[in-house]
Order: sequence, then C-alpha cells, then structure tokens
Amino acid sequence: MPKSVMSTPSARIMNTYQRFPITLVKGKGSYVWDKNDTKYLDYTSGIATCNLGHVPDFVQAKLHEQLDSLWHCSNLYEIPSQQALANILTENSVSDQVFFCNSGAEANEAAIKLAKKYAKDQGHAERTEIVTFSDSFHGRTGTTLAATAQTKIHEGFTPITPGFRYLPFNHLESLTEVNNGKTTAVLLELVQGEGGVRPADPSWIQELAKICKENDILFMVDEIQTGMGRTGTLFAYEQFNIEPDVITLAKGLGSGFPIGAMMAKEAVANSFQPGTHGSTFGGNPLATTAGLATIEALTSPDFLTTVTNKSAMLTKQLHQLKEDFPSIVEVRGMGLLIGIEFTHPVKPIMESLRAKKILVLIAGPKVLRILPPLVTTTEELELFMDELKHTIKAEEQGVTS
Ligand SMILES: *Cc1c(COP(=O)(O)O)cnc(C)c1O
Repeated sequence: MPKSVMSTPSARIMNTYQRFPITLVKGKGSYVWDKNDTKYLDYTSGIATCNLGHVPDFVQAKLHEQLDSLWHCSNLYEIPSQQALANILTENSVSDQVFFCNSGAEANEAAIKLAKKYAKDQGHAERTEIVTFSDSFHGRTGTTLAATAQTKIHEGFTPITPGFRYLPFNHLESLTEVNNGKTTAVLLELVQGEGGVRPADPSWIQELAKICKENDILFMVDEIQTGMGRTGTLFAYEQFNIEPDVITLAKGLGSGFPIGAMMAKEAVANSFQPGTHGSTFGGNPLATTAGLATIEALTSPDFLTTVTNKSAMLTKQLHQLKEDFPSIVEVRGMGLLIGIEFTHPVKPIMESLRAKKILVLIAGPKVLRILPPLVTTTEELELFMDELKHTIKAEEQGVTS
C-alpha cells in the first residue's frame, strides 16, 4: 500500500506540538534566523535552555574539540568531563553528588526513585508518597506526569502512577498535611514555569523546609527551568535561604545540548548503588563537555551580577507598563524568568510581537512569559520594551474600538 500523501512539512512528525510557522536555521547570541534569513530577537531562549544565547563561542569551541576526540563511551568507564562537571556543580551548590541523565523528566524520575529508596534505607517502608503542588510541571513521562499536579496533563493517561499527593501551592494552612506519616519527599518548583510564572512565597517555602527537616522528609527542588543563572543566582534556592536535599537540572545546563542532572546531599545520594539506577547516554563526553563549558561561563566573575542588573532594569520598566495599562494584572517572576498576567488572552500579543520579529512565550492563556538570554544587552531590552508597549497599545485600541 502506498503511503498517504502528507501536505505539511511536519506531517510525518507525531502531532504533539502546535508549531509556529517559522523554520529556524541559525542562531547566535540573542538572535535566531529563519530559512529566509529573517532575524528574530529570541526572548524564549529555546524555553529557558539557551541561557548563554545561541551557539555561545566558548561552549562551541569546547564542543568542537570534544567532537574530534570522543563522543560516547558508556558509564562503564571514567569520563573526565563528567567528573569535572560534577565537581563544579557540587562546589557551587549544597549538593555532594550528581547523577547525569538526558532531560528534565529523567532528572525528576531519578529524584523520585531516590526518594523512594531513601525511605526504605531509613527503615521507613511505610513512606511511599511524594507531595507535589497545584499547577506544577515536572515532565511528561509516565511517572513525572503523575508528579505534575494538573488534571489536564493526566487526561487520557489513567491509571497514572500512584504515590503522589497534591497540596495547594503557596498555601500555608495546608502544610500541616505534608507530614501524614507516609511522605518520603516533597518536590516543587521555586518559580512555577509552565504553571504561569509563579514564584513561591518565601515564608511558605521556609515553613515547608522546616517541616521537612523536622520529619526527615526530603526537600526536593525542580530547578530545571529556574537553574543555571535564570533567576540571577546560579540556582533559585539560594534566594530562599534553604538547603534542598535534592536538586534537579536540565534545560539551561548544556546551552542546548541535551543533558539533565539530579544532585543530592551525600546521606541521600548513598541510596543509589551500582544496579539501582543508570542511563546509557547520561553524562556522556559531549553532553558533559557542553555542561562544563556552560557552567564555567555562568560562574565567571560578575556574570550573574549582570543578570541581576538586567532583571532590575526590565522589571522596573514592566512595573511602569503596568501603571500605564490597566489590562496588565501583575508582573512577576525572578531574574530573567518573567511573567506578565493580563486580563485577557495573550496569544494575540505573542503573535503581534512575532510579526515584529520578537519571539516570546505564553504560560497559560493570560500570561506572557519572557525568557531573554542572560547575555541580552540593555539595547535589546529597550528595543523589546518599546515594541511590547506599542503592541499592547495597539491591542487595547483594537479591543476597545
Ligand atoms: C521543562 C521542565 C521539565 C521537563 O523537562 P524535559 O527536558 O522536557 O523532560 C520539568 N520540570 C520543569 C520545571 C520544567 O520546566
């Protein structure tokens, strides 16, 4: 039987993404170019992945070197770039050891397995549950979709993996329910990314951390979107005065090269032994070379200060914008992970900006999500603010006239 004729270029790709009608073929710094050589300012950073901008010189050079020597050898052998990346990650965090994998969902899978094993190793076989929070996002695998406390993500995939209990995010009173005798861990984002760019309330976080500490419940933070300098510190937890037991990373870790990591304190990490977990590709020489070069750039002196400064400049202007436009409900976020909530759906604003060659994202129907590369310049930020202002103005006139 001949195969049916397919009409669109992506027709042979399973229909899991609604794609924008743009074909990107090149990137450098804050910009990407499409196949017609049209240039776009990329304020999505490939969804918080290209934090150093596209094809950053330093990472590119290191990857070129590695491409000429060794791509893959399996975790049955010592991998120097993997060791170096683990060293620099643990030197710059409260974690002691790292497990490498290939994506965010896999990093959370590793954290979930570790939490279950840890409970048993502590003689707490009855602790079989992990608490997660409303509007979270932890991934799309069978188990991480169950960790994600959003019914729309579960739909069609029942029975979902058991062992998760959901509590409302930022809700102080519900924290009394965290320790019900069955909880081995909590897993949460410090700024909910997909769930509308919602930062955790510091007093709520501190109370949650206290409950976890007092009851030997693991405090696990999903820093897949908030990590790697995105919020102005290398990891977002640094700004909450807490010490997570487990941290998961992916997106920005490899500047676009696929890599994930799950880091833990030693007493927890010890629950993984040969045979308990693994990954063929996880931490391979190419991926960890990309990760190492990325984190070297992010931790270079003063780099993160420039991020904080740019964030302050952008949020100040956005708060001014909120004063000028009553359709803006709230400006929120941390560092260069910013959400602008409107009274109306924001898809038209995203599309108008795209017509002006600026790419942004949405997080839910009414929230515009802005993720500039951390290396964006103040000129680019000003250009963005001008275009955003004009777009909102035109949109409001369109709506009211
Ligand atoms: C993107 C994301 C994930 C999933 O990462 P994948 O690499 O797509 O599996 C998990 N948690 C958070 C907070 C994310 O932003």
